[in-house]
Amino acid sequence: MKGKEGISGPCVACDMIVSFEAITCPHCGQPDAGEKAKAARIAWKAERPIKAEKKQVREIEFAIRDVIEKDYRIPLLDNDFEKVTVLHLQGGKWKSLEGLEKLSEKLTQLKELNLESNKLTEVKGLRKLSQLEKLELQYNKLTNLEGLDQLTQLKELWLRGNPDLTFVQIDKLQKALPKCIIFS
Ligand SMILES: [Zn+2]
Repeated sequence: MKGKEGISGPCVACDMIVSFEAITCPHCGQPDAGEKAKAARIAWKAERPIKAEKKQVREIEFAIRDVIEKDYRIPLLDNDFEKVTVLHLQGGKWKSLEGLEKLSEKLTQLKELNLESNKLTEVKGLRKLSQLEKLELQYNKLTNLEGLDQLTQLKELWLRGNPDLTFVQIDKLQKALPKCIIFS
């Protein structure tokens, strides 16, 4: 399929590459071979966000293994996640936080989280980490602060280097989190 993306795909019956325009597979005679290959490709594309989430989960699990010094061959257990109080996840290429959101219910003791220098536009995936006390979000691409008002234990929040955030958005969050020092 490589190099011919968008015009051909694997036959559902024999896995040979067929044109999306093919009525029958020239290799095995499968009817509607092109139509079926095209549908499979569309389904595969729709699945890709899930793959990004899984990739993020894997990256976070690696970071957790570093923190708790657990060999990657041994499975992570729920009580391993509960040992984590500080997590550094800065400098990635993350645009959103689906993977972290998925793990957040296990990270019950996480107090400090560094997500500096990613490409985050929104952070509503953090809303379940209500025990967080320090959160670093500087140098991302945030356009809104939705979800952060749920982090009522926050004492320190770093928002510098997010040029699209407005004073109004930051002021509104400050009112929701009066005990938090916001660096912006
Ligand atoms: Zn075929």
